[in-house]
Amino acid sequence: MDFFDENKVTPHLGIRVQKISTDSRTIQTEDGNDYEFDKLLLATGGKPIVPPIPGTDKEGVSTLKYLEDAERIYNFKGTKAVVVGAGTVGVEASISLKRRGLKVSLLEQLGQVLPNVFDEEASIIIRKIIEDKGIEVITGEQVVQFKGDSHIRTVVTDKREIECDMVVLACGVRPAIELGQKAGIGIGSSGGLRVDGQMMTSLPDIYGAGDVAETYDISRDMDGINAIWPCAVEQGRIAGLNMVGQKTRYAGSIRMNSIGNFIGLPAVSMGIISVHGHEFQEIKRKAKDTYRKIVLRDGRIVGAILVGQTQKAGLYTTLLRKKVDVSNHVPLLMSDRVNFADLMPLIKENEGKFTEIQYRELMTNCLQ
Ligand SMILES: Cc1cc2nc3c(=O)[nH]c(=O)nc-3n(C[C@H](O)[C@H](O)[C@H](O)COP(=O)(O)OP(=O)(O)OC[C@H]3O[C@@H](n4cnc5c(N)ncnc54)[C@H](O)[C@@H]3O)c2cc1C
Repeated sequence: MDFFDENKVTPHLGIRVQKISTDSRTIQTEDGNDYEFDKLLLATGGKPIVPPIPGTDKEGVSTLKYLEDAERIYNFKGTKAVVVGAGTVGVEASISLKRRGLKVSLLEQLGQVLPNVFDEEASIIIRKIIEDKGIEVITGEQVVQFKGDSHIRTVVTDKREIECDMVVLACGVRPAIELGQKAGIGIGSSGGLRVDGQMMTSLPDIYGAGDVAETYDISRDMDGINAIWPCAVEQGRIAGLNMVGQKTRYAGSIRMNSIGNFIGLPAVSMGIISVHGHEFQEIKRKAKDTYRKIVLRDGRIVGAILVGQTQKAGLYTTLLRKKVDVSNHVPLLMSDRVNFADLMPLIKENEGKFTEIQYRELMTNCLQ
């Protein structure tokens, strides 16, 4: 039995929903059908950002979001690729293209690789690993034009011109809000569909979840979009429970990224990673190929970076999620070896914050 049969879901694949009619409680699909709803979930995800640069329509230039994008890139012929954007998708795409034997240039307009995920110190370590794989990394340069006849031939930046046969645009995603917005759903300050703690939008019985929804961000203590898979899955689960009448509150999201599997050095980051303002405190520890940083606000972890040694990532996540005051335990948290016994006082002080499962998870983490 497949997923849909097992869960009594009727899939309608390959059909776009083009309108929501709130008065008649129906949705209209592009093939002319109407479907009634009692409850509706909008999980329309994100759309790849295509920067407003001349020449993005040339053959050989592609975003990387959908399966057809991946297939198109896979089928491009040529030997030289430029990847625009050194976020997680851009870095991963560069490594994959390099593995396929292409000459790869990775271009980033900001001054470092993975600027939204790692701080400068961590990014220096990671950049070296990427360069050691034979990828040319160019930061602090902006693309101004994609040149060629019908096919891409060169990428022009504000400083140089790079020959290429293909370009991958990895410039991020923006929430695909159009359907919801046209129906009158409120939009939040990050540009996503605004939802409450039960994942309901500003319109009754219409819910939002995943990359399209703006939810409570635990680290920032404000609403925002953390466009990662685990957040989307959890939000979908909470929305579903509420839609069938099981009132459940979404605890909030934490941005988390792990890139170890594709660069070859374990590296994890979560929450707030670069801070401005006196309310934050940064504690860093750097050795040859390892780097660790925690960001505190009012004695609580609101962000962390772990490069080289990431075993304690789960522990940091739990302490962040539970807003545990760690101010008296910072040297312990920054040390290479943390034993459960050492953390016992901290956990005991905050016992009420942890469920039985979390308590056991903490123990396992500390004993690793
Ligand atoms: C290349 C890439 C790599 C990634 N790697 C990771 C990773 O390693 N780890 C991680 O945590 N996250 C990763 N992400 C992010 C992760 O994929 C997203 O956070 C997650 O897929 C969001 O799920 P979603 O259901 O909200 O949206 P999506 O997965 O984007 O799904 C939305 C779906 O809605 C459909 N849709 C939109 N509008 C309509 C409409 N009008 N009618 C009908 N259907 C519609 C879309 O076609 C799409 O299939 C990656 C993203 C990309 C692009």
